[in-house]
Amino acid sequence: MKNRIETLKESKHFQLVYIAEGIYAAISVPGTGSVGNATIIDLGDSTLVVDTFNSIQAAEDLKVAAFHLTGKPVSYVINTHWHSDHTSGNQVFSPKAQIISTSITREIMATFGKKRLEQQVSNPEPIYQAIKELEEKIQQERDEKLKKEMQWENASDIEYMKILPKLVYTLPTITFDQQLIIHGSDRDVQLITYGGGHTQSDTFVYLPEEKIAVMGDLVLSEHHPVMIHANPQEWLNILDRVELLDIETIIPGHGGICSMEELREVKGYISNIMSLVAETLQSRGSIDDILIPKAYQDWYFTTYFKENLKKVYDLIIK
Ligand SMILES: [Zn+2]
Repeated sequence: MKNRIETLKESKHFQLVYIAEGIYAAISVPGTGSVGNATIIDLGDSTLVVDTFNSIQAAEDLKVAAFHLTGKPVSYVINTHWHSDHTSGNQVFSPKAQIISTSITREIMATFGKKRLEQQVSNPEPIYQAIKELEEKIQQERDEKLKKEMQWENASDIEYMKILPKLVYTLPTITFDQQLIIHGSDRDVQLITYGGGHTQSDTFVYLPEEKIAVMGDLVLSEHHPVMIHANPQEWLNILDRVELLDIETIIPGHGGICSMEELREVKGYISNIMSLVAETLQSRGSIDDILIPKAYQDWYFTTYFKENLKKVYDLIIK
């Protein structure tokens, strides 16, 4: 039913990609406020979505798309991890849909995530200040790729500030600790966590029959993996285990549809960051002097490269 996509009014927030019968990826359009990717899965007698974007409007569009493509309202929402670009649209699906995450993810949302949002609402000034500062940087930036990325980032942040007063922090209603299977009339989906790598707890959605995995931010394609809340060694261990599964198609947390090749690229990237920092420490150099390796120069999320180095540096120093 690929043509169902064509009869749907396009969302400015994402591009819908047909993956297999009843499975559609909503790939974020940069700079629109959606920020992360989402996925729609038709289970037969019910509909499930994975992740809910960084904005209420993007999530509203996702809800409309899910209904149009599957003919049913959304019954289940999966949050792959607690980051706001995967959870901010939860309220759009609640209370009709059950929102599912690991118990650790819910715990972080209920404490740190909720508090952070309350602080942003009561004192939005630092974010406005950051937007202003980035605007000035954009004016001066000569590198076209960096300039474009900064413009996307600022546009997304401005979108986020518009929805901030309307955000109702909406927590998962069902939690699990290792694996949860949702049995639909047409297909089963497996929610699996192997622990925390990208964040303190990461879930991915596995469809063994279709050999498809929705990986959240454990796998990004052509984007620097984001390591600010990461446990790099655990992340590698998790991806080693995912590699043992029978997966042909990956819907990443950011970037376009990919395969196991990108999963291996992420592993290579994390190992690379770890060894670059270790070598620099050994030679008593500064991590500020480490340049982005050639293989990653075309990737987006460029600013995370320095932050990733710093994160790994801090982990070694501690
Ligand atoms: Zn993300």
